[in-house]
Amino acid sequence: MPEGTVIVERGASAQEFAPKLNRTAADVVRFLLEHGEMVTATMSLGDEQMELFALEIGAEILLVDPGQQEEMELQALFDDSDDDLEEAQQSRPPVITVMGHVDHGKTTLLDRIRSANVVAREAGGITQHIGAYQVDKSGRKITFIDTPGHAAFTKMRARGAQVTDIVVLVVAADDGVMPQTIEAINHARAADVPIVVAVNKIDKENADPQRVLTQLAEYELVPEAWGGDTIVVEMAAQQGLGIDDLLEQLTVVADVEELTANPTGRAKGIVLEANLDVGRGPVATILVDKGTLKVGDPIVAGAAWGRVRALVNERGEQIKEAGPSSPVQVLGLSNVPQAGDEFRAAPDEKTARVVGESREQRIRVLNQRGDARVQRGVKLEDIFTQIQAGEVATLNLVIKADVHGSLEAVTESLRKLERDDVKVAFVHRGVGSITENDITLAATTNATIIGFNVRPDRKARDLAEGERVEIRTYEVIYKLLEDMEKAMLGLLAPEFEEVVTGEAEVREIFRVPKIGAIAGCFVRTGVITRGTKVRFLREGTIIWKGSIQSLRRFKDDVREVREGFECGIGLSDFQDLKSGDIIETFEEREIARV
Ligand code: GDP
Repeated sequence: MPEGTVIVERGASAQEFAPKLNRTAADVVRFLLEHGEMVTATMSLGDEQMELFALEIGAEILLVDPGQQEEMELQALFDDSDDDLEEAQQSRPPVITVMGHVDHGKTTLLDRIRSANVVAREAGGITQHIGAYQVDKSGRKITFIDTPGHAAFTKMRARGAQVTDIVVLVVAADDGVMPQTIEAINHARAADVPIVVAVNKIDKENADPQRVLTQLAEYELVPEAWGGDTIVVEMAAQQGLGIDDLLEQLTVVADVEELTANPTGRAKGIVLEANLDVGRGPVATILVDKGTLKVGDPIVAGAAWGRVRALVNERGEQIKEAGPSSPVQVLGLSNVPQAGDEFRAAPDEKTARVVGESREQRIRVLNQRGDARVQRGVKLEDIFTQIQAGEVATLNLVIKADVHGSLEAVTESLRKLERDDVKVAFVHRGVGSITENDITLAATTNATIIGFNVRPDRKARDLAEGERVEIRTYEVIYKLLEDMEKAMLGLLAPEFEEVVTGEAEVREIFRVPKIGAIAGCFVRTGVITRGTKVRFLREGTIIWKGSIQSLRRFKDDVREVREGFECGIGLSDFQDLKSGDIIETFEEREIARV
């Protein structure tokens, strides 16, 4: 960093920014106004606005995310530079996450492993669900994250925490590769975590493990038996078949991965789960990365701090210490940290308090400043800037489409757009509506979501807004390609955006002579207005677009129906509705160019 560089937080207002450069907020506001940008002294400024002003007055600035500088200073308080010494490293147990499609047997597998291997030492001791558990396989320990599925996995990653060393991908032999199987593969790949395949339910009559293997090979998971390097275990979790083999294979993969950590020194790790217990106060399950956590240690976990009052394992036993890869419940924190927060043992209680309290303070300020949330990654609109800066821009995309055919077509066409300076990376491709999982994945990987003939549901839309994930939906491929090309040329000008105005769920269909079908609906959100444009969604896929012909409440024609009410919607030229379908109304609004 050149001398004289001023560190500035992204999203700062003129009031906060100006004094750092020995100017007043009014100087900044006036300058930006002269350049056609209306800002007030308290509005949060964009990166470019700050850079422009700095350039004008000849100052060097370095933009950092809010709290980054402060966090760097806080981190410096835990000096643990000795901990990474090569000679101090010792092998540690692998941490496993089980993923796969719903109903393929993830929970059954985790339950089986837990009950067969976590031996309750004292009579009557029962295993507790604390978010993770450790088992013993021929004297080797293996840690399992006790929340199956990739939601937890991505949520952690979204917070910058990666705890998983190996993913067990459960695929039911009678069902084969399904959308969430593919999602799981993509999540594991994005995190660069090795996958062990568990072909489950081989006891079933219609089980076809070979078909599963053929399907997986299409996703570059080629079994060892076929000359590939993917370990595949056949099992029946419900019957307890093949589980030993799976555990055995996990220790093999762990050996290949050479997982090590320094078990001495102050502990550091990640919070897996945390809650407020009526009797015990804040309780956090943590997974130790390195070092050893001991009762009595002063610790900080996110914005919570305290002294370890007790450590409790998955058998409900109080233990004195927990080393690398051990999950353990910690009692004694000042408040409840968040899952994904980092925890660290502090040199002393005072440091723990200072760090915890300053983080708490910062969270409070950031919450108040709400709108100043940092934008992460290269948005589609920003890609041109990066190209111009002479960097190779990678456009991360999550593609969702209505059917396989269109998914392939969209992917192929997008691939053709690649140039030397613009790479296209598909973080995830799948069939079906745009879900919250897609949004979290996109947020973690700075991806833009492309929907082809599919839409996000309301929850996903809200999440996308919160996470500032861009979703672009299309119904014609050439329009999609045109936009992508424009984005790469810096010409992307989305003039219109569709704003969803209301959402009604179809409850029943009535056939009325001469008029046709009337859909008896319940308005879930917003307002349904006669004459607006609509699309019909079945499980998130667009099945028809048109407009509302008639709108009734009981026998009366009405102009609009609000959230929480029932109504009858008449659709002259589309008859094929079913109960459970969603009628979404939308308006096209012009978007102001930023
Ligand atoms: P999850 O959604 O992936 O967690 O799946 P579950 O573990 O809840 O399993 C879904 C269903 O499949 C349950 O009814 C299980 O009893 C059943 N199941 C799980 N493993 C097996 C198996 O190996 N064989 C058979 N026949 N059924 C199984």
